[in-house]
Amino acid sequence: MTNRVKKICPISHEKILKQIGQIADREKISVYAVGGYVRDQILKKETKEIDFVVGENGPLFAKKVKQQLHGHGLVVYEQFGTASLIVDDVKLEFVTAREERYEKESRKPIIEKSDILSDLERRDFTINTLALGINKDNFGKILDPFGGLKDMKAKTIRTPLDPDRTFSDDPLRILRAARFASQLSFRVNPQIIRSMENQRERLKIVSQERITDELFRILSHPRPSVGFQILKQTHVLDIVFPELIDLVGIEQRDTYHHKDVFEHTMKVVDNLARISDNPRLRFVGLIHDIGKPRVKQFVEGTGWTFHGHELVGERLSKKICNRLKLPKEYRKYSQKLIHLHMRPIQLIGEEVTDSAIRRLIVQAGEKIDDLMKLCRADITSGNPKWVKRYLNNFEYLINRMKEVEEKDRIRAFQSPVRGEEIMEVCGIGPGPLVGKLKSMIEEAILEGQVKNEHDAAYRYLMTIKDDVLSHCNEKADTDSKMGSHAQQGNSHGV
Ligand code: ATP
Ligand code: MG
Repeated sequence: MTNRVKKICPISHEKILKQIGQIADREKISVYAVGGYVRDQILKKETKEIDFVVGENGPLFAKKVKQQLHGHGLVVYEQFGTASLIVDDVKLEFVTAREERYEKESRKPIIEKSDILSDLERRDFTINTLALGINKDNFGKILDPFGGLKDMKAKTIRTPLDPDRTFSDDPLRILRAARFASQLSFRVNPQIIRSMENQRERLKIVSQERITDELFRILSHPRPSVGFQILKQTHVLDIVFPELIDLVGIEQRDTYHHKDVFEHTMKVVDNLARISDNPRLRFVGLIHDIGKPRVKQFVEGTGWTFHGHELVGERLSKKICNRLKLPKEYRKYSQKLIHLHMRPIQLIGEEVTDSAIRRLIVQAGEKIDDLMKLCRADITSGNPKWVKRYLNNFEYLINRMKEVEEKDRIRAFQSPVRGEEIMEVCGIGPGPLVGKLKSMIEEAILEGQVKNEHDAAYRYLMTIKDDVLSHCNEKADTDSKMGSHAQQGNSHGV
């Protein structure tokens, strides 16, 4: 173990770190900023959270910080020796320096108080084992016992201890390795890759909530495919997401480049990550073709076909959402988007009727924009000419949708003179005549003869009302006469 100490600059949140350091000096306690905060400082990434390791009782120190720096929102987890609070919009977390020992069958460690070095040793990856001194005698100096700085430079993810032990102690770290690779665009060291594969069965002791959380973190980064490819390569995906592994080797009909449904899915998710932050939409991208392996059929002259995969996928997505313990809205959202995800593409290329477009808009409801994003991301052919043609057609469809929506908006428009007022002005009761007058006003506005405002519409009503009323009265007279003849006729007949 080398205790390399190196100064880094600049430190954001310098004022707050100095203030906390002064409190630590007065209390004669050594305190370090650690983990993600130090890593992200070196990578020049913004952070709103700082984790600290405290040489003595972490929660007690947090209380002192709260008093002296006027913090708020203090939460104490006495049994874990941690406490968090907020000072100047920054979330601060204080942990008592500790060592962890694990029993084979459990994820719950036996925790003992220790010093900073043992605390860093229990951390997952070397890039997360850096500690930044904040006491007066070591302010701004980095403690780097496991070569984290070197690994940062090499953009490598490596464990501080024997990886088999690190992963076996807390198998969630297997997923965290893939997550950090996605998050930071780093490579996972080959020895670590082998160990992830060897220890993968241990993931069975990890709760589904923690697994789901890491999968969504992978999805939240700019290139989720990086993380999922690592999980595929290490066969970890077989355990945490077997439905995705079923997509491997399922050929797509793309004569330009050979690409299976798994590779296609990876592209779709990366495409979505470029255009949307919505975790639900990215998740749907991941599972939108999940039904394909079950319905694939080879048709001579056409190649592989997947008729009805959106319906099978819709059903499977329900099972997946339940297994991942996702909230009900995720399930409903996924089902709807998967069910409809072929529709826009099917509309492309034909002369699209207004009513086909209207049906799609109505069926998708408020999810229409997300559906269109999914479909755009779904265009991943290896042939640039095809992509261009599809995208052009897609633009055409989007414009047609706008047109139809605009027309419908105009159709949904109503006369600025309302029914009650028409009845009052014309001295008539409710009935078809009110509707007739109203649509005459609307028609005149749509024709551009009358301005779409109350007073103009009112004046127009005054000019037409007498004619319309007298015409209707005449008609009613004739009708009633004819009605009485008919009645007489009937009575004769009886
Ligand atoms: P992020 O940017 O996602 O917050 P982070 O590195 O801060 O990244 P956290 O999950 O917030 O990650 O954890 C804070 C620190 O705690 C990590 O940097 C790491 O040192 C340590 N840590 C968290 N979870 C584990 C774990 N399962 N095993 C070992 N160390 C862990
Ligand atoms: Mg963090």
